[in-house]
Amino acid sequence: MLILGSHVSYKNDTQLVGSVKEALSYGSNTFMFYTGAPQNTQRGTINDLLTIDALNLMKENNIALENVICHAPYIVNLANNQDLEKYQFAQDFLRNEINRCETLGVRYIVLHPGSATKLERSYAIDNIVNGINNVLVEEDNIVILLETMAGKGTELGINIDEIKYIIDHINFQDKVGVCLDTCHLNDSGIDIAKFDDYLSEFESKIGLNKIGCIHVNDSKNPINSHKDRHENLGFGTIGWDNLLNVIYHPSLENVPKILETPYVNRDFAPYKQEIEAIKNKQFNPNLYEDILNYYHKN
Ligand code: FE
Ligand code: FE
Ligand code: ZN
Repeated sequence: MLILGSHVSYKNDTQLVGSVKEALSYGSNTFMFYTGAPQNTQRGTINDLLTIDALNLMKENNIALENVICHAPYIVNLANNQDLEKYQFAQDFLRNEINRCETLGVRYIVLHPGSATKLERSYAIDNIVNGINNVLVEEDNIVILLETMAGKGTELGINIDEIKYIIDHINFQDKVGVCLDTCHLNDSGIDIAKFDDYLSEFESKIGLNKIGCIHVNDSKNPINSHKDRHENLGFGTIGWDNLLNVIYHPSLENVPKILETPYVNRDFAPYKQEIEAIKNKQFNPNLYEDILNYYHKN
């Protein structure tokens, strides 16, 4: 079964209930949320009554909690320990994020591995390993999914070998996995038209069973551009057919697919129309018009 959804908002007053309702409005059967604004680390407390409402709503609509994804904020940087206070803060934040996910019953947490900034890459990558190992405990029921990065600036986790290095050094192997992002892969130099080659390298070095989530995005920039700017499916350099091949890849059938494609005119979420096109397996050249018409009617 296709497990498909998008990034949705999470507001402190409606919490997961609001996220589920938004996901349902797009025709999704899963979703990804941040427990607060993605660009900051202010987080409210979880209201258990709202969580119960959300879980009931999910049950009624066949959204399995095990397919729901939480995304840690971008600014958590476990790679840099130049400022030990900030390094500790990043670990504490991740710890609290894990606790929030445990409270909600959410299993997967997507994490950007981090950026080396002024540090040596090999040293910075060990900071990531140590940071994650400091945070995880045996009792944790979550899986941290390291996201494959585009290679913007000094980002780490920009190829299979870097991701493999981190995973291999994590103490609790069952609590770490990978989130593939097709835009990031393209921008890091992977040709999505040859996705099978990538998967066979991934299988031999890490194992396909480690893939816990796929971010399906087209890219505004050419392969190997190290930019990281997402585009709507079929409107970028990766192209519709290549993305559809990823979404329906038989080896990745049970992996949740999440859209993080850009809003139209900054205001209008494209996900209902993109999800429709994916389910129809038919590129919609009138996507923008359809989205604008939809929001003007509703
Ligand atoms: Fe991400
Ligand atoms: Fe992503
Ligand atoms: Zn991105």
